[in-house]
Amino acid sequence: MIIIKSERELEKMRVAGRLAARALRRVVSAVRPGVTTEELDEKAEQCINNAGGLPSFKGYRGFPATICASIDSEVVHGIPGSRQLKQGNILSVDVGAILGGFHGDNATSVAVGRVSEKASDLLRAGEAALWAGIEQAEPGNRLSDISHAVEACAREHGYSVVRDYAGHGIGRDMHEDPSIPNYGAPGRGPELQPGMVLAIEPMLNQGDYRVRTDDDGWTVRTMDGGLSVHFEHTVAVTESGPEVLTRCAGDEEE
Ligand code: MG
Repeated sequence: MIIIKSERELEKMRVAGRLAARALRRVVSAVRPGVTTEELDEKAEQCINNAGGLPSFKGYRGFPATICASIDSEVVHGIPGSRQLKQGNILSVDVGAILGGFHGDNATSVAVGRVSEKASDLLRAGEAALWAGIEQAEPGNRLSDISHAVEACAREHGYSVVRDYAGHGIGRDMHEDPSIPNYGAPGRGPELQPGMVLAIEPMLNQGDYRVRTDDDGWTVRTMDGGLSVHFEHTVAVTESGPEVLTRCAGDEEE
């Protein structure tokens, strides 16, 4: 069942979304060659704790950290640790925060120092695919219009989309109905209505769409070893169109 949020609940979700966005921005601003993913994780956790929130992921099914940090061919759910980022890596960071009883969830992928043209192109395509999906989060559209737009954008750029993981509804629970695949025909699934809140999160692979999970039980990586990127926003469907809840005011106090 898809839970429709009231205006009052949406207001709380804006606050949680902004916190998740701030934590992500804090991490991104610290990305550089030599930094460890554990150090990035601490920055996110501090940011969330200082605001009186809690990390959504820490303890979720036993996940040990605040962020997921996935490097190069890692798709999602990488566990932060003592690995240092190197010039030329691409890093995907996913962070969620709960505040006032609601979750915000967002992810982005960034270059570590200078990266190859191929890596830059994949990064641009991943962000474009996210926004193509967000644009479809309009009342009256069907859920799979989002899925289809994401896949079409990825294909247009020559990339595949991961099929084993999907976006999701979000609210008092981090994962609510509906599941939002990043592929498929348009015009299917429930009709989108104001008050639905969706975490839209395409994962694009340079090569084949297939992925596998490491022995750590978490880290998901491309089967063929190609690069992968992940972008996510928490988006409310409103009368006036999609509203991205996980955005940061540029000059927001940290
Ligand atoms: Mg998510």
